[in-house]
Amino acid sequence: MQSDLPERVLGGPFTYFNLLKTICSEISRTQDGISDHHISALYQIFGRALPKVLDLIDKGEIEYITVESTRSYFIIRRPKATYYVYSTVLFCNCPYFQFNVIRKKKNLMCKHIIACHIALAAKKCKFHSSPEYMSPDVLSSGDAV
Ligand SMILES: [Zn+2]
Repeated sequence: MQSDLPERVLGGPFTYFNLLKTICSEISRTQDGISDHHISALYQIFGRALPKVLDLIDKGEIEYITVESTRSYFIIRRPKATYYVYSTVLFCNCPYFQFNVIRKKKNLMCKHIIACHIALAAKKCKFHSSPEYMSPDVLSSGDAV
C-alpha cells in the first residue's frame, strides 16, 4: 500500500506499535489473560519498562471509554494526575510522553500507552460508554487533575 507518511514515521513508532498490537490481539484471542509467553514477548520489546506497565494494569485503574460505539480512548486515574491515551493514535498527556517522545524523540511510547492496550486485550479495563468525546481542553489541562 502506498503511503504519504514520511519514512521516519513509518519506521519507528508504527513498527513497535504494530508489534504491541500483534501481541495484544493474541492475548485477546486466548481468553486466559496475559500468559508467560506474552510476558516474554513483551519483555523483548519493552524491557525494563514492562514491570511498571504490568503494575499499572494490576492496579485496575485503566478505563476504556467508548463514544457512540465509534470512537474510544483510555483514562488512567492516578492519585496525582489523570492520563488520557488514544486508542488508535500514539498519544498520552503524561510528562514522560511530552518530554521523551515528543520533544527528545528518545522513546516511542510511554508506559501508559503500552498498559492501556494490554489491559484492553486482557479485558482488565473498566468499560464505560460516554455520549461525548473528550475535549481538547481536557487534553491540554495535562497532569494537574
Ligand atoms: Zn503516558
